[in-house]
Amino acid sequence: MRDISEYEPIVGHEVVSRLREHARALRGAHIVYINSTYVGGGVAEMLNSVVPLFNEIGIKMGWRILHGTDDFFTITKKIHNSLQGGSAGLTDEEKGLYERTNRLYSTYTHLDHDLVVVHDPQPMPLIKFYKKAQPWILRLHIDITNPNPNTWDYIRNFVEMYDEVVVSNKNYMRPDLNVPQSVIYPAIDPLSLKNIPLSGQFIDKELSKFGVSDKPMIAQVSRFDKWKDPLGVIKIFEKVRRKFDCQLVLLGNLATDDPEGQKMFESVQLAAAKSEFKRDINVILVESETLVNAVQTRADVVVQNSIREGFGLVVTEAMYKGTPVVASNVGGIKVQITDGYNGYLVDHGKYDEFASRVLELLRSPEKRKELGEHGRKTVVDKFLITRLMDDWMTVFERHLKSGNN
Ligand code: UDP
Repeated sequence: MRDISEYEPIVGHEVVSRLREHARALRGAHIVYINSTYVGGGVAEMLNSVVPLFNEIGIKMGWRILHGTDDFFTITKKIHNSLQGGSAGLTDEEKGLYERTNRLYSTYTHLDHDLVVVHDPQPMPLIKFYKKAQPWILRLHIDITNPNPNTWDYIRNFVEMYDEVVVSNKNYMRPDLNVPQSVIYPAIDPLSLKNIPLSGQFIDKELSKFGVSDKPMIAQVSRFDKWKDPLGVIKIFEKVRRKFDCQLVLLGNLATDDPEGQKMFESVQLAAAKSEFKRDINVILVESETLVNAVQTRADVVVQNSIREGFGLVVTEAMYKGTPVVASNVGGIKVQITDGYNGYLVDHGKYDEFASRVLELLRSPEKRKELGEHGRKTVVDKFLITRLMDDWMTVFERHLKSGNN
């Protein structure tokens, strides 16, 4: 387990002392995070780092995972899609199973904590099934600016039962909600296996296991999910590859709460096999933090062709490694990238423009270095978990009277 002082060389003594000081005010508070998966996706990623660290600095932070069947997760993925602007609404049967699963979980999951924090829509209805004995906070990680109106009408009944809603971007705050709202930007752990510096030799060995060549590399690292538009990445790559000899790596994993992932992976494999440049496309489905690190470190350009993106930790991770990123001008990516300063932003769907930005970077080591250095600085200043923990403690303080623990 890591000690918070190990972060000092990266963020400085002052930041770490402030965190300890902040934690002293909350010492002994018993808090629980609830989400729906241990692995896959940004939420699990953050909780894996932050939960042990909170315990290390004196806050008794627990972590519970909602249990659900495949049918349940098919419904919650539909809710997720629909809240991000997809058109399909929920049937009464689907709403029934969604709520029943939450109710069942509540019967055997006893919550006697001082504060409960629920992440995302899967466990959101839980609040309805408890005698609410403490403050409840809802942490929504998705882009909810343009939801399907029927789904939103249904969902907001639960949302409005919470004491506060925390979103990832001020644009996601909703004027139609009768609940206090606040913003916490997500963050990465610079000491996780995924982000620590790796030697060139180690990277070579990791990449060669998966058939990655030594050609210049473009990469997208993302769950196989239509919202990340990996098929579009192949189209962009083909445009680039016609002008510049390089390779594409599409590395992804599956989340246990996303039943559409396997199908998406298969369509990406098929599209890669049909491409005129199939020899230069590597589609990799594996759960490996070191491989993510190796790919993000070695890539000459990281792309993130998302249609929607709540925040986009993969963008943060690449920037932290000094790798320049070309990404869609959407959601949380806009919070991280200032176009032309620490990366490039392109409107989603403008594949020619996307390809020309990638080409520009492949052809210019100076530009790659400049954007990469600015990217790393941005992340160190704003998007590391030390800042995330500090923001969380500010939220906890708002709801926990000092001395109640
Ligand atoms: N990730 C991973 N392996 C993969 C693809 C993604 O470990 O093959 C991780 C990635 O490094 C990042 C998280 O999953 O930490 C994805 O978070 P992001 O916010 O980018 O997107 P989400 O999946 O939550 O929509």
